[in-house]
Amino acid sequence: DSVFANVARAPEDPILGVTVAYNKDPSPVKLNLGVGAYRTEEGKPLVLNVVRKAEQLLVNDRSRVKEYLPIVGVADFNKLSANLILGADSPAIQGNLVTTVQCLSGTGSLRVGAEFLARHYYERTIYIPNPTWGNHTKVFTLAGLTVKTYRYYDPVTRGLNIQGLLEDLGSAPTGAIVLLHACAHNPTGVDPTLQQWEQIRQMIRSKSLLPFFDSAYQGFASGSLDGDAQSVRMFVGDGSECFIAQSYAKNMGLYGERVGALSIVCRTADVASRVESQLKLVIRPMYSNPPIHGASIVATILKDRNLYHEWTLELKAMADRIITMRKHLFDALCARGTPGDWSHIIKQIGMFTFTGLNRKQVTFMTKEYHIYMTSDGRISMAGLSSRTVPHLADAIHAAIT
Ligand code: PMP
Repeated sequence: DSVFANVARAPEDPILGVTVAYNKDPSPVKLNLGVGAYRTEEGKPLVLNVVRKAEQLLVNDRSRVKEYLPIVGVADFNKLSANLILGADSPAIQGNLVTTVQCLSGTGSLRVGAEFLARHYYERTIYIPNPTWGNHTKVFTLAGLTVKTYRYYDPVTRGLNIQGLLEDLGSAPTGAIVLLHACAHNPTGVDPTLQQWEQIRQMIRSKSLLPFFDSAYQGFASGSLDGDAQSVRMFVGDGSECFIAQSYAKNMGLYGERVGALSIVCRTADVASRVESQLKLVIRPMYSNPPIHGASIVATILKDRNLYHEWTLELKAMADRIITMRKHLFDALCARGTPGDWSHIIKQIGMFTFTGLNRKQVTFMTKEYHIYMTSDGRISMAGLSSRTVPHLADAIHAAIT
């Protein structure tokens, strides 16, 4: 018998498992709204033109070699990534208060940051919003942190529970880590207003909590890179510590290239450089050093004025298509007279709509309409097109009535 005969079968990942089920469905009308990846009007994955151009430049450059990168990755990429999220004129950057390391996309950046905190920070408890991206709990728990939640979403108003949020952070132990979605909260699509961000900032600073931003959608939410970075910049602007995990999966469409960055903003340049020395000790035994290709694409685009401009246009086009899909779906439900208030579809921000559909309704839509989504009723607006909106609206209408 196998020495692994007792290994139990693990369940599919709740998000990636949706695609597994979708792939098995032979129906021609099937629709995958589970996966958080951008699709064109034609339902196809998109490689940005600017990414193709950067890749061409890289291929043609015969001086490029395949040697190992340093443990912290591509130096230009790190510098430019910090500039992108903090703003090049940020006093934290000017004062060398930021250490940035290239990591394996957003997930890897969160994990490296969490491993560092578990080793070097005095408070091991991290507060994450309820609900949040399903992987957060696992990433932080496995890194050795204790995960607790703070109230975030109010199902009744389908908006932010700012009172509950402030109460929960207010009663957290001094120094506790707080995970914040920089913009386009996943799965709810509900973001604090700038005034609410300011309230959150004051609460976090007055309790000496440590903010850890997850920035997976910069530019993808509003179409503006600076606009989507405002929450982070507000916190960094007050001069206290801050962690930021950046992903280029969505905003450059580099999903499978696994390119991201962890930035830690410190109070002095000396602390920042010591923190970086310890980040290397976290990274070296995990994967030694990061891959070259994706970070080189990003650096090529970020450092060239024309390519950068072209990127902002392509990014805005993706964001706009998602916003248009929200309008189409909202209009289609209004036209069908589907009972209930559906205005949250156009109010929510980013890739997902948190529909409010329950598990039973989701199961019904999958069974009868071959529409796939996570069981919490989250649908990816990026997976919709003008052609598929009517089918989705029919399914929601049937599930509700
Ligand atoms: N954080 C959030 C909130 C996300 O939605 C995602 C992607 N679904 C990630 C982090 C990480 O994605 P990646 O590792 O592909 O960059």
